[in-house]
Amino acid sequence: MNAPIAIIGTGIAGLSAAQALHAAGQNIELFDKSRGSGGRMASKRSDAGSLDLGAQYFTARDRRFVEVVQQWQARGWVAEWQPSLYNAQDGQLSASPDEQVRWVGSPRMSAITRAMLGALPVRFSCRITEVFRGDHYWSLLDADGNSHGPYSHVIVATPAPQATALLAAAPKLAGAAASVIMEPTWAVALGFDSALDTRVEGCFVQDSPLDWVARNRSKPGRDNHIDTWVLHAGSAWSRQHLDLAKEAVIEQLHGAFAELIGCAVPPPSFTLAHRWLYARPAQAHQWGALADADLGLYACGDWCLSGRVEGAWLSGQDAARRLLEHLQ
Ligand code: FAD
Ligand code: NAD
Repeated sequence: MNAPIAIIGTGIAGLSAAQALHAAGQNIELFDKSRGSGGRMASKRSDAGSLDLGAQYFTARDRRFVEVVQQWQARGWVAEWQPSLYNAQDGQLSASPDEQVRWVGSPRMSAITRAMLGALPVRFSCRITEVFRGDHYWSLLDADGNSHGPYSHVIVATPAPQATALLAAAPKLAGAAASVIMEPTWAVALGFDSALDTRVEGCFVQDSPLDWVARNRSKPGRDNHIDTWVLHAGSAWSRQHLDLAKEAVIEQLHGAFAELIGCAVPPPSFTLAHRWLYARPAQAHQWGALADADLGLYACGDWCLSGRVEGAWLSGQDAARRLLEHLQ
């Protein structure tokens, strides 16, 4: 019997592994607890248009990722974002232009993972709770009590805290995942009927509850019927206010935004808050991916490398490479 490979998680890491394995002729089956793909690169549809509440943009520094991003650009999945960049420190707003190339999904961040998924077999709204191995094959159990399988191998492509339990069959891998601390991020979107009178399109922020601010309409292909902004609180503020009600988070971050942006900020006509519990690893690692090749269990994700989109994609490639090497 030629059992397929199960991949848990359809963020960029899981899909990177899926594409590499599919290209090598392997059968795969994907699972995600959410209703769609993308994970932290997903976009939220709202009355104010589509909003990138997670990853804001990404850079490409590794040669392999640079090449794949060029292919995505040629297919229209990504476009370069050239915001008018600022820095806010000690209440001072200053222009902070640079030469860095920054990419965004087009017309929304989720377009990338949607296109990568293509027609690959996937089960959404399916939270995997257990990964276990019989004499020869792997099986998965989901939160509704359904079992899935058999599979020849399993790749766990979730954030580290969610991976730990799924890696229980390989205690070394589970231990490594358990050692990773992931920091939260509160994200807020504010929409204004009249455009704010500012040149700011992206701003790195210090000494504030916020650490990042972006003007949605400055990204290529975005809906611009109202002037929508995405605000990210820093890790420390997000941790300290983890259980604050969404209305209070919106109020506080709106206040911080009004303080730094340097123009009149009216009450927003649209607001939304989202808490990312596992937004970013507290530190980078050099693991590439985790593997117990004899068992056939693998883990990948941004937490195995740099905590960025590029790191997640590279980690997925690494998991697929190690699995394929073991098959030979
Ligand atoms: P994820 O995207 O988290 O994917 C994991 C998937 O697994 C999810 O879809 C989840 O639903 C699924 N899953 C979890 N548990 C289960 C389960 N038990 N069963 C089934 N499915 C499960 N990076 C940048 O490069 N630039 C940025 O500007 C940037 N900004 C960011 C801002 C925020 C607020 C956040 C949260 C992240 C940001 N990042 C940024 C980081 C970037 O988004 C991540 O590094 C990257 O998207 C991680 O991809 P991943 O595939 O490893 O994990
Ligand atoms: P990058 O090179 O644009 O930014 C890296 C860091 O350099 C920035 O965080 C900022 O501190 C600084 N920086 C860069 N350009 C600047 C400028 N013109 N003026 C002032 N400061 C500048 O991109 P990257 O290395 O790909 O990093 C991705 C971004 O994603 C980072 O900003 C990181 O903080 C963010 N991120 C956020 C989360 C979250 O949960 N909020 C998670 C992962 C990554």
